[in-house]
Amino acid sequence: MRLGVFGGTFDPVHYGHLVAAEEVRYRLRLDKVLFVPAGMPPHKLDHDITPTRHRVAMLELAIASNPGFALSRVDIDRHGPCYTVDTLALLHEEYGPGAELFFLMGMDSLADILTWKDPERLIRLARIVVVGRPGFQADVDELDKVLPGAAERICIVDTPLMEVSSSDIRQRVREGAPIRYQVPEAVEAYIRAHRLYLDDAY
Ligand code: ATP
Repeated sequence: MRLGVFGGTFDPVHYGHLVAAEEVRYRLRLDKVLFVPAGMPPHKLDHDITPTRHRVAMLELAIASNPGFALSRVDIDRHGPCYTVDTLALLHEEYGPGAELFFLMGMDSLADILTWKDPERLIRLARIVVVGRPGFQADVDELDKVLPGAAERICIVDTPLMEVSSSDIRQRVREGAPIRYQVPEAVEAYIRAHRLYLDDAY
């Protein structure tokens, strides 16, 4: 089984995530892409994260119509900070030796990979699939010099580029700017119904 793993805060999920995941699923002939919302992400302790139940509910609405997408609770059902390397090890346990993992990330996240826990093991546990993000470049050959094996385990996939980010969407909601066409309609309706992102804390 070829399993895509797309980790993120998804606060909220948006079309940038969805279009990238769908294109990678198709191009790499993945059986499924698992969206793995973070419980308490170690990289994002600088802003208040929306309660997990809201982020999960929005993800469920966003992926419901795609049989190639699924949600994994692996990072939200355990406590404390969740490191990607541990998530991947748990998914290997859950899906068994027949599963080949492909970890999806945006170009912006690749730049940070050396700061993540145990990047050497991380690239052994999963192939890394990097999708473009406007304004971000990465040099895999340079990375390979400090993280041997990186070039072999990382591939960059061209997907339709969308200059959308969760932080921008939160700010737009706060300011009263439209978010239509940036998130699925059901996600927008959920944000409005629960009055998310109106508060300065976000
Ligand atoms: P924030 O703006 O709060 O940093 P985000 O939009 O980057 O949030 P995350 O949930 O942190 O969303 O992202 C999860 C993953 O999706 C990361 O690997 C990130 O690089 C990638 N990603 C997010 N937005 C896009 C986009 N527009 N195009 C491609 N990849 C994206």
